[in-house]
Amino acid sequence: MSMEFNHSFQMAASAIKKARTLVITTGAGMGVDSGLPDYRGEKGFWTAYPMYEPLGLNYYDAANPMHFDEDPAFGWGFYAHRIDLYRRTTPHRGFQLLQEWINRYEMDYFVITSNVDGQFQKAGFPSDKIYEVHGSIHYLQCTRPCSNAIWENKEDVPVDLSTMRAKKILRCPHCGDVSRPNVLMFGDFAWISDRSDEQSRNYGSFLKKYTPPMVVIEIGAGTAISTIRNMGRSLGKNHEALIIRINPRDYKISPPHISIPCGALEGLQGIQSALAQ
Ligand SMILES: [Zn+2]
Repeated sequence: MSMEFNHSFQMAASAIKKARTLVITTGAGMGVDSGLPDYRGEKGFWTAYPMYEPLGLNYYDAANPMHFDEDPAFGWGFYAHRIDLYRRTTPHRGFQLLQEWINRYEMDYFVITSNVDGQFQKAGFPSDKIYEVHGSIHYLQCTRPCSNAIWENKEDVPVDLSTMRAKKILRCPHCGDVSRPNVLMFGDFAWISDRSDEQSRNYGSFLKKYTPPMVVIEIGAGTAISTIRNMGRSLGKNHEALIIRINPRDYKISPPHISIPCGALEGLQGIQSALAQ
């Protein structure tokens, strides 16, 4: 444990011990300790996906729905690679620590994440306790779309890593057109939000009947996509929640909220050590 954060860890631990409700909000930084890339900057993206560098494509270009229309094998290449990566990834121990605290301190809880990787479900969190604000890569929809149908993807799509082109294109079972992951891409006007909207309603019901005090643990949520931070801020303002922000870069937050300037796993383990004292 980093000694200089000791005081923050103690404060976070004491807040968690008193809390009756826990809201976990996460961004891309949550997955880094499981070995997932966070695509930070063009360099970060090209380190994870060297094939896109000679093409001059950054993350915003690759995660663009136009590829599914113009060149479906290319569009599918990026997503099929990520689907496979997320399926093969084991969530780091921090996910388990959160579950242990929820059980030990008998807290009600909810998870809000901008990650589309399905790692909370994989770590054993029940799906009715998760709100995936940008959808899930493990679900598909029609590109057209011919209907609002969303279905679980159970297929494997092999990718030629030298071209990042998919060797197979998954199709909509209703109209036969190209399908795509049910995630919000950049410049995306065709994303079907029905599944995410239902999760949002679950979250709304949770907020109507939770028991205070509430603690929010915000993990690895950057400032570039502000959705996750805004949700925590709103809980702080409207529900008197105390926010614990774990982030190695943009970690500042005004007291009484608590700033823990490190990565997800280190931060959660630090709190765990303080809880054990
Ligand atoms: Zn269709």
